[in-house]
Amino acid sequence: MLDKIVIANRGEIALRVLRACREMGIKSVAVHSSADNNLKHVLLADETVCIGPPASVDSYLNMPAIISAAEVTDAVAIHPGYGFLSENADFAERVESSGFVFVGPQASAIRLMGDKVSAIRSMKAAGVPCVPGSDGPLGDDHDENIRLAREIGYPVIIKASGGGGGRGMRVVHAEASLTAAIIVTKAEARAAFNNDMVYLEKFLEQPRHIEFQVLADGQGNAIHLGERDCSMQRRHQKVIEEAPAPGITDEQRRRIGERCVNACLEIGYRSAGTFEFLYQDDEFYFIEMNTRLQVEHPVTEMITGIDIVREQLRIADGETLTITQDDVRIQGHAIECRINAEDPKNFMPSPGVINLWHAPGGPGIRVDSHVYSGYEVPPFYDSMIGKLIAHGHDRNAALARMRNALTEIVIEGIKTNVPLHQEIFQHAAFQAGGTDIHYLEKRLGLV
Ligand code: ADP
Repeated sequence: MLDKIVIANRGEIALRVLRACREMGIKSVAVHSSADNNLKHVLLADETVCIGPPASVDSYLNMPAIISAAEVTDAVAIHPGYGFLSENADFAERVESSGFVFVGPQASAIRLMGDKVSAIRSMKAAGVPCVPGSDGPLGDDHDENIRLAREIGYPVIIKASGGGGGRGMRVVHAEASLTAAIIVTKAEARAAFNNDMVYLEKFLEQPRHIEFQVLADGQGNAIHLGERDCSMQRRHQKVIEEAPAPGITDEQRRRIGERCVNACLEIGYRSAGTFEFLYQDDEFYFIEMNTRLQVEHPVTEMITGIDIVREQLRIADGETLTITQDDVRIQGHAIECRINAEDPKNFMPSPGVINLWHAPGGPGIRVDSHVYSGYEVPPFYDSMIGKLIAHGHDRNAALARMRNALTEIVIEGIKTNVPLHQEIFQHAAFQAGGTDIHYLEKRLGLV
């Protein structure tokens, strides 16, 4: 029985997990850095443990400190949230070997999906559509690599198998630069990820980013909760997400969703997960699986009525999924704006004291944020200070509610990207829906 869990994260997601715990009667332990004494979930938690100084490497990434906190508080499980240690297979393994439950997948599944070459191989085997590519790591035979790229057709992208966070990738437009690009990407990958395995893929020029949410119990049951469109990005960082994805048909959703479910069953996946695809010319191409809760999970919760964090906790407790695929009904449309403490023009972080915080409200509005009037945003972490989510009976209704919410929200004392969101919601192309992953940067004049 999960009667007490450690929340090994900070900010809005730590608060989200704490709220789920409270609803379920689970006691919570907030572990935090010395810069985070005043975080909302730290103030609300049943117990708190300071695990180190502000720098993440000494606190939120400090595995022994987090595991000791679980020991001294007699907790049963550890929820990693997203980011930090959430996709660290070694951490998952250490948590379990120390006798605690890791609220997430098995370490082996994190490891399998963390290596892109092995992830793509297992997805192909499960019938998930992938980007045409080298079907494994590139060797040192340059002629063979040239032949392969020619067969795939330019442009191609060289990707590090151990890459992440948009790093370790290089686009090649012509044969003349292929060999040098492979050599450089390998060297970079060795330095950055301690793994010089690289592979080749067709570079899709105008894709959308569409991802499928899954839930699996590791006991033979898996479902998908439909897709999200996260194409509004800047520097590979999502800015706005929505569900369902504009223009995706029920038939496409069913077909790709089924493949994702099948893949979960094949690898014996447990917990929540996300299959990320690029989508172009009506085709889906798998790029990676995220073996954790996503920032944008609320849009899926709003349209399905399913509490994904609650399900994660139930599954971690050894329960089976009680929701079947037929129970999953998509109702209306939801959209999320990430609110960042940053200059809306040059994107420089803007930490500091929030003198005044006023959250918007009204029907269909959800605010997932840990900030409050008087809260000081520390300079040490990610600049996201919250998420604004709007749900409506259709996309236009959700957009209208979000526009209202963006005019109601008041954040004084620091700069935020709210003015950027206000502007985006006036763009005709965005209003029409279905823009590709380069749209936002083009509009901002960044490319
Ligand atoms: P990471 O793990 O670093 O996030 P991904 O494989 O998810 O790496 O790719 C990150 C981003 O790079 C994608 O969202 C997309 O914008 C771009 N990208 C990756 N592969 C391709 C491809 N084959 N064609 C076009 N763009 C790609």
